[in-house]
Amino acid sequence: MSRRQSPPASQDLFTRGGIITERDPGFCIVRLRMPAGMITPARMKGLGEIAAKYGIKNTHLTTRQTIEFPHVDPAILAELVDDLAANGTPLGAEREEVVNVTACLGNRHCKFGIIDSVGLAEEIDKNFFGKELPVKVRIAISSCPNGCESERLNEIGITGIQRPIRDPGLCTGCGTCTHYCREKAIEVQDGIIVLTTAKCMECGFCIMPCPFHIIRGSPPEYRITVGGHRGRHPKIGRHLIDVKSQEDVIRVVDKIIYWIYRQASTGSLLPEQLDELEFDEFKKSIVKMIEA
Ligand code: SF4
Ligand code: SF4
Ligand code: SF4
Repeated sequence: MSRRQSPPASQDLFTRGGIITERDPGFCIVRLRMPAGMITPARMKGLGEIAAKYGIKNTHLTTRQTIEFPHVDPAILAELVDDLAANGTPLGAEREEVVNVTACLGNRHCKFGIIDSVGLAEEIDKNFFGKELPVKVRIAISSCPNGCESERLNEIGITGIQRPIRDPGLCTGCGTCTHYCREKAIEVQDGIIVLTTAKCMECGFCIMPCPFHIIRGSPPEYRITVGGHRGRHPKIGRHLIDVKSQEDVIRVVDKIIYWIYRQASTGSLLPEQLDELEFDEFKKSIVKMIEA
């Protein structure tokens, strides 16, 4: 599916999304593929050696969690691209295609993490990176509703969520959990906790602190938003669906990308096209496809 799977012919390199013509048109920027911004120390060392080999003085960390080499002489592109691929840090993407997937560290390392955002980013990358589409598609994942990846400002955003399940009959009314809720969604009334679901962000932060362990967490879920965008006209993506597993996320992303491939057109951003086509219709068609 990915057009990065076969080595590029050297004359074809400037048609690759990871190669960007620089301000000085005699040079280019080479952007890498690095899902979730993860890179092993060995590959980092390899990148340093490659940069030194080709006389690249600085590397740049991009907003999409990857690295780019500025001011590259096109004469060395073919060899450079081969070396990058051999290092496990291949050429990236930035045109009308699925570009580098971003993610926070998630439940592997962050104490607030609900889902394995890094593992999910790698899986999405494996399935969809570089897929050519009528519009650029950015995918970002935050492991909890804190939204450190600003995922809802991406064409496809994925957020880990977890609902608190209470047993008010056992509540002592100590109030500890209320101090952990930033939304003021839980309060103690007449000695027991009361949850205002409309205020709850499903972050799960109130679950652990209960000294009596009477708040349990529902199994983690994945909230998927579509049509977000940052840049000149920022837009927050709209809620599409909540699903229960990583496999379901892949299915939904597959359906969204298929829909974009078939229905979207070039020349305007996806959020604008979703406005025109009415989001509810889009949502219905995606949900129908998922349920089929
Ligand atoms: S989004 Fe949540 S899990 Fe991810 S880094 Fe931020 S606080 Fe941690
Ligand atoms: S899940 Fe989060 S927002 Fe909801 S009640 Fe608990 S702490 Fe508050
Ligand atoms: S921390 Fe536990 S016992 Fe205390 S008010 Fe909250 S749910 Fe009740």
